[in-house]
This record gives sequence, C-alpha cells and structure tokens, in this order.
Amino acid sequence: MARRGRSDYLAQSLLLYQGEASEYAAGGVRMASAALMATELLFRDDAYLRTATAGVVAAGDGGVLLDRTIFYPLGGGQPGDTGCLVRENGARIAVADTRKGADPGTVAHILAAGSVLPAPGERLTLELDWDRRYRLMRLHTALHVMSCVVVAPVTGGNIAPDKARLDFDIDMNLLNAERIEQGTNELIGRGIATETVWITDAELEARPELVRTMSVQPPRGAGRVRLLNIPGIDLQPCGGTHVANTAEIGGIRVLRIRSEGRKNRRVEIALA
Ligand SMILES: [Zn+2]
Repeated sequence: MARRGRSDYLAQSLLLYQGEASEYAAGGVRMASAALMATELLFRDDAYLRTATAGVVAAGDGGVLLDRTIFYPLGGGQPGDTGCLVRENGARIAVADTRKGADPGTVAHILAAGSVLPAPGERLTLELDWDRRYRLMRLHTALHVMSCVVVAPVTGGNIAPDKARLDFDIDMNLLNAERIEQGTNELIGRGIATETVWITDAELEARPELVRTMSVQPPRGAGRVRLLNIPGIDLQPCGGTHVANTAEIGGIRVLRIRSEGRKNRRVEIALA
C-alpha cells in the first residue's frame, strides 16, 4: 500500500462527512487533527491481548485509525495482524492487514476493498486472528533463539504464519541444519521467561557492556529503545510481539538452508 500523507486523510474525512450534520463536520475536522496523535500500542505491554475496545479516530482509503489497538503493524520482519472490528450492532468489519499510518506513531487497520467504514467517534470491539498471531509470536521468538545458535551477523529476516527465516553473513559449510535444529530446540526446551526492557539513550551510554552483549546495535536518538531479553540467550532491540516463555515455542525444524547471493545464507524454519 502506498503511504498516504496526512492531507489524504484530511481530504478523505472532509469528503466523507461534508454535507452531513454539523456535528459530523466538526468531528471530521477534529478527526483530521487527532490523526496526528499516536495510537496507543496495547500489544507492546501485553502481546496476549486478543480483544479490546477502541474508538475510531479516522476512517478512509488509508485504513481505520483507532485511539488504541491490539493489532501489530507490519515491521521488523513481522507481518501486520488480521482480525475483525466489531460494531456495537454486532456487524463485523474484517481487517485484512495492519500497517503503520501516514502520521508518525499511528496504526492503519486496512480493510478489504468495499468494506463499510466505521464512523469517527464510534466505539468498536477489536478481535485479533489469534491463531495466526500466536504462530507469528512463537516463530518470532524462535528466531531470537536461533540467532544465538548461529553465531554470525544477521543480514535479514522475515516471519510468516507458517515459516520464518534469518539470513546470515556466514560461510555455507559452517551451517548444519541438524545442529541448528538441535541447538535451538535445546535452548527452547529450557523454558526461559522472556522480558521486555525499555532503556533510555542515557542508560545505553552509561552501560556499554549492554550493547556489547546485543546481537543487533540499538538505534539511538529516539530517546528510548525497546529490547527483548531472553536471559542468557539473546538481548536485542525489537518492537515485535514475543511469547512469554520459550517453552511456548514447542520446538522448531529447519526447512532448508540455501545461498541468497554471495554473502547471504538463508536458514528457513517452521514450528515442529
Ligand atoms: Zn523480536
């Protein structure tokens, strides 16, 4: 989906609500300025929320913006969530995808073409496609564990509901599917609780040993960084959703290892 500017939302909202009661017209204008407000990201504090209520901030071609959401937007190799927005009359609006909104910090819930749009101010019940999301959480966390087993710079990665991959800058003959599988599953089987850690740029400066233990260098300048810590296994900046304990992954199997270009070696896994 092409990124849409704020003016697109503004135009869309004015187009949608012009000619309606002045209450709605005023709402349209308010909605446009409110679209600048960041969406509260409920999944960041609790990745296990399957449902929540939220208010509609704006709705248009660019998607539905809510004041808060449990839907994770595409990013960091993790796909956007799918699910439903349920209206007070029980009507269900399918969410086909979730992306970062045009305004910083906002989340756009992408509807299937031809969907009925909810109105600004309307209260909705959000329902996640939990089976899909939970598989993504398990695979995502498995990649963190695997990045500790394969000791090499990570050059890329991607997660899908049925499989996930990491690309490494490593010599092909150092990669052995059986060893990766066994090593990863051994760590998963330890049943280690994962934790989200927020750290400020200042704390990062004060604790350089923290950065040395990270497998990925944290971005600086944003004020604070969100880290996933799997104690004794992996510590790295990550904004995605993870399982609370490695035991929830169950286990993984290596689907294949192949060369992707001169330096990239791609290791693809699935849940066992
Ligand atoms: Zn992660």
